[in-house]
Amino acid sequence: MVSMKDLVAFCKRKGLIFPSSDIYGGLNGFFDYGPLGTELKRNVKNLWWKNMVQDREDIVGLDSAVILHPNVWKASGHVDGFSDPMVDCKVTKARYRADQVFYAPIAVAGKLLGCICVTDGEERDADVAKKVKALLKAHNCSQEKPDEIHLKPLTEAKPEEFALIPSPATDKPGDLTPPREFNLMFQTQVGAVASEAGVAYLRPETAQGIFINFKNVVDSTRVKLPFGIAQIGKAFRNEITPRNFTFRSREFEQMEIEYFLPANETLWPNLHQKWIEERYQWHLSIGLRKEWLSFDVHEKKDLAHYAKACTDIMFRYPFGVQELEGIAVRGNFDLTQHQSFSGKPLEYFDETLKTKYLPYVVEPSVGVDRTVLALLVSAYDEDEVNGEKRVVLRLKPKLAPIKAAVFPLVKNKPELVEKARELFSRLQKRWYTAYDETGAVGRRYRRMDEIGTPWCVTVDFDSLDDDTYTLRDRDTMQQTRLSEAELTAFFEKQLQ
Ligand code: ATP
Repeated sequence: MVSMKDLVAFCKRKGLIFPSSDIYGGLNGFFDYGPLGTELKRNVKNLWWKNMVQDREDIVGLDSAVILHPNVWKASGHVDGFSDPMVDCKVTKARYRADQVFYAPIAVAGKLLGCICVTDGEERDADVAKKVKALLKAHNCSQEKPDEIHLKPLTEAKPEEFALIPSPATDKPGDLTPPREFNLMFQTQVGAVASEAGVAYLRPETAQGIFINFKNVVDSTRVKLPFGIAQIGKAFRNEITPRNFTFRSREFEQMEIEYFLPANETLWPNLHQKWIEERYQWHLSIGLRKEWLSFDVHEKKDLAHYAKACTDIMFRYPFGVQELEGIAVRGNFDLTQHQSFSGKPLEYFDETLKTKYLPYVVEPSVGVDRTVLALLVSAYDEDEVNGEKRVVLRLKPKLAPIKAAVFPLVKNKPELVEKARELFSRLQKRWYTAYDETGAVGRRYRRMDEIGTPWCVTVDFDSLDDDTYTLRDRDTMQQTRLSEAELTAFFEKQLQ
């Protein structure tokens, strides 16, 4: 698997993803997608939209505002409860999410020496070993074996334990502040006069825009339960420790579905399972590696008070196995809250049962950026061609930023260039195509392999006589001779 260091450098070099505000030194937690990254991300969103909305009869789309009435976030519980526990190192001013900092008491033969404290991440185990060694040395017990070590998140530390826990930055006990709640919503002001009444929030999820439009959609379309409303859009969270490239950023995109169903206890378990399977298959269909996908079924005790069940689809990123998509059953908590806070009836009239109720909902919610990152990790490959390293992005053709590249064999033969440019402009009308005439053909192939272009088409001297071209496949590197009609029929079939 590619390392994050290599992937981040590759993304910048190839114009996939840049740190945002790069020339100003970047802004932590924000990213800009470059020319190729924009295409890739757009292809992911378009495919999700096609598969989840347009290919189905039971889901409709929505595009709600980023800034909603502030009461939306009071009703949803975000104003009071959308927070993470935060601790600061008083000395270095480093800020941590308390659930991502781990501590462990270290004892030798039952005698407590002190505590160690480390942050979560790729280096965690190595860090633990280093800190235990240092603690043993400080107590002149380098030869001893410590008792079994149980790492626990800082959020589980008892107040009396806190004085013993060192800061992960200084290794000195007492340097950390106790955890306090930090609300992750970005605040802004609506209107010209700054006042308490004008406080608004950038949405931390797209889902609430769906719930508040539930009645509008039911009244303006012919949807009948069960049905879904889907939305793709930006979400903003002032994450305490944005990290792992685009995986945890402060501005990101979500693709969310609220799938509404009759409010009873018999229907949702089956529908939940169907959605888990459907979304898993979708991730496979876009090319995520099967061996790196898994599930995390949340235990009852870990669920939010209103949730009936939740299963996350996990992906094995280079920094560990992490959530890619959450599929939760939220009962009718959100509609109940919005009905109560807005004072507007939001019930659905069930014509079969001749009764009104607030439907339950299954919510498959996936991050666009986490999907793009998982795709890059899955697709990045290195092999060897004629004794030279070749970087190849094995993206599915449907998702590849550029579908095909047209090359004249050499650039100093006007008749070849002219024929190649004509072919290019005809193909370009149908698919995003590149034209390249610089350097040896082998080099041009490599450039296209690196950015995942599935096919290269070379116009050579035979083409001038018989109107056929060489089609070269990115993965097999095999070359076939095809006419233009055969070429376009092939692309059509592969990209449908
Ligand atoms: P995590 O536990 O990783 O913070 P979450 O459970 O808070 O995620 P949800 O609120 O369920 O995430 O959001 C749904 C999806 O939105 C996630 O599965 C993820 O793909 C994406 N997402 C959430 N937070 C971020 C972020 N800070 N950066 C990028 N994507 C995110």
